[in-house]
Parts: sequence; C-alpha cells; structure tokens
Amino acid sequence: MLHLPTVQFTEEQEQFRVEVRAFLQDELAKGTFTPKCDSWLSGDDPEFSRLIGQQGWIGLTWPKKYGGQERSTIDRYILTEEFLAVGAPVAAHWFADRQTGPLLLRYGSEEQREFFLPQIVKGECYFGIGLSEPNSGSDLASVTTRAEKVEGGWIVNGQKIWTSNAHLCHYMVTLVRTSPFDGKNKHAGLSQLIIDLQAQGVTIVPIKYLTGEHHYNEVFFDNVFVPDNMVVGEIGNGWAQGLAELAFERSGPERILSTFPLIDELIQELKRQNNSQGLTQASKIVARLWSLRNLSIGVAQLLESGNSEDVSIPAALVKALGTKFEQSIPEITRLIIQTYPSLDADRKIDRFMAQSILHAPGFTIRGGTSEVLYGVVAKGVVAQ
Ligand SMILES: Cc1cc2nc3c(=O)[nH]c(=O)nc-3n(C[C@H](O)[C@H](O)[C@H](O)COP(=O)(O)OP(=O)(O)OC[C@H]3O[C@@H](n4cnc5c(N)ncnc54)[C@H](O)[C@@H]3O)c2cc1C
Repeated sequence: MLHLPTVQFTEEQEQFRVEVRAFLQDELAKGTFTPKCDSWLSGDDPEFSRLIGQQGWIGLTWPKKYGGQERSTIDRYILTEEFLAVGAPVAAHWFADRQTGPLLLRYGSEEQREFFLPQIVKGECYFGIGLSEPNSGSDLASVTTRAEKVEGGWIVNGQKIWTSNAHLCHYMVTLVRTSPFDGKNKHAGLSQLIIDLQAQGVTIVPIKYLTGEHHYNEVFFDNVFVPDNMVVGEIGNGWAQGLAELAFERSGPERILSTFPLIDELIQELKRQNNSQGLTQASKIVARLWSLRNLSIGVAQLLESGNSEDVSIPAALVKALGTKFEQSIPEITRLIIQTYPSLDADRKIDRFMAQSILHAPGFTIRGGTSEVLYGVVAKGVVAQ
C-alpha cells in the first residue's frame, strides 16, 4: 500500500551534514542568531537569510543557471534538518525556497525564472502563500478573490487571510478565480498570479497572536493591476499547479521538527540532572521521531526519483502524523520535567517550552488540517 524507499546517506551526504552543522555552531558561537522553536515559520531574519544565500544554501537543488547548486533533494533534506534541529531563523526565505522556486521551475515562464530565482537564491526575495480566505480554508476551491482580464494584465479584487509573513515578503503567489464558479467543476477557473505586495491597492493588516507577536496577516486587494507576465503557468490551471506544490509543502522535516530544540534541551537537562527515569521516557520520543523521519525521508527520495507514484498520499500522512508528534512535545515534556515556561526566561528549556506551547496549536492547522489530511489518506487508500 505504502511503498516508500529506504534511504541510506552516502559518505558525501554525511560530510555535507558535518559541514552544515559546523557552520551553524560557528554562527551560534558568534551570536549571529538565537535558537528558537518553530524557527522555520516564526524566525524571520533577512540578514541570516542573506548569509545562507552566500553559502549557496538556498535553491540548493535548482539549476546552476539560476544560481542553484543542482544538488539532490536528499542534500536539501539534510540541510533543512540541520537548520531546524538548531532552531535557526530561516523563515524569511522559507516559502520562496521550498515552494515558489519549485513552482516556477515547473510551471513558470523563462522570464519569471530568470527574474526571481537568482534573487531568491541570494536570500533577498521573499514570497508569501496566498491561499486561505475568510470563508475558504480547507475547501480552497471556493476562493472568491477574482481577477478580471484587462488590456495587458488582470485586475484583482478580494481578500486573503492568515498569510504568514506577508508584511515581510516582497511577493505572494495568489490563488484567484479567473472564471466564474462552476458547481459541476469547482476546480476549474482558478489561476495563480504573482502579486507584488508593494503594488497600489494592496493593503496588509496584521493579525497578532495573543502574545502580541506579528506572524500572519489579512491581505486586501482593491483593483490591483497584475501584468500578464506575472501569471504562473496557464490561466485556469491553478488548481493542478497548486496541488503539485503540496507534496513539497507537506512532507518535509519541518512537519516533524518544529519543537526539536525543546526535545534536545529536554535531554540535555535530564542528563545534567542525572535523571535516568526521565531519560527513559524521553527515549520514547526519540523512537517516534526516528520512525517519522524515515517516512519523511522516504517521500523526499520519491520526489528525487521523480517516481510517477502519487506522492500526495504519503506526503499527507507525514504531515498528519508528524504535526501531531511535534505538537505533543510540550505536553510530554511537562510530564517528565519541571519547567517554568516564559518567553523571556533565562533557561533555554523554559523559553523553548513557552515558544512550543504558544505555537503548537497551529501545527495541525497550517498547511492543511489533520482532518482534511486523514481524508486525503483515506480516499487514496480506498482508491488503491
Ligand atoms: C500558523 C498558521 C500559518 C498559516 N499560514 C498561511 C499562509 O501563509 N497562507 C495561507 O493561505 N493560509 C495560511 N494558514 C491558514 C491555514 O491554511 C488554514 O487555517 C487551514 O487550511 C484551515 O482552514 P480554515 O482556517 O478556513 O478552517 P476550516 O477549513 O473552516 O476548518 C474548520 C474545521 O473544520 C474541519 N474540516 C474542514 N473541512 C473538513 C473535511 N472535509 N473533513 C473533515 N473536517 C473538516 C477542519 O479540520 C477544522 O477543524 C495558516 C494557518 C496557521 C495556523
């Protein structure tokens, strides 16, 4: 039913991991960044993104002619794991690297690739994801933001919501309706446009967390002009193009490791306290983590091999199981060890605990809710 390859890292790949880890430890020692949980979505640091760009570590798998390194998906997996394990602030360039680049390589025009990819690779150009709307989240085909054809482009009106980091991004790949809704084929008539977030008619309004943190936004479009050359792929093919992005979005190590810095610090703290009973309990976390990691790397290998087998089902499984796991870590930690969670605490474990408690509820919602993912897996299994 689920045929995922087993991945054995090569010597070069193990060496690459050592290189990345050493770089991150050096930067940590220099004080370049402060580790945090959920750093891939809430650790925005354009300066750090530029530094990663200088290393050649954004767009790692992309063709050299656009500034990439033409390395493997598994190399990228290793790189990403190391960033997340140490809680490095990689959020600014995250979506552009994970999603927009692959989308443009697959569906974008040559002009778009030549314009955007080299800027993304340098860590200087950030993209948001414009899918959800106030009445359209899980049922994305019901989006009502519309684009109407005019001379030389499209006029966009409507609203997106929960847009991560729109206030820091330069552009947003936006799912819009370019033909009226057709109840018989609701996936038809959708298109993807690259919208310049500085364009006239775009208004970004913050939605703050209870803590006051500014992570996501409402984005309003009031007669925003989008030139024809900012249409991604084909008009009307937005649904299929968006689906192709999902395997990248759902199966990566970020769906398992958002609270890894807390796991790591829990183990360090237990060792410092010589708490063997606690360590035994913590080892169960590590065993679960290991199985999920194998599942996630298996999907990465399928993506690498370009296997025609549908990766959307195992990718949905990784996201559903992985996010439940990472979400459970603060609760498991609480049962093993005494902590005093606070965002300003001196002790790392207390800070990581606070970050995890505050961010964990969103893990099983962002990128598709667990219920919806279970539906994808169930339908896929029935279809087989
Ligand atoms: C931290 C965070 C960051 C986000 N960033 C972005 C972003 O950058 N861009 C973006 O576009 N969106 C973003 N989102 C939004 C996210 O994708 C949506 O919240 C999510 O898809 C759910 O949509 P909804 O909120 O409209 O809930 P709904 O779709 O209304 O769902 C409500 C409830 O009903 C359940 N449900 C819905 N349909 C079904 C079904 N068919 N079967 C069973 N149960 C169902 C859901 O599981 C959920 O429990 C982000 C969300 C979070 C939490």
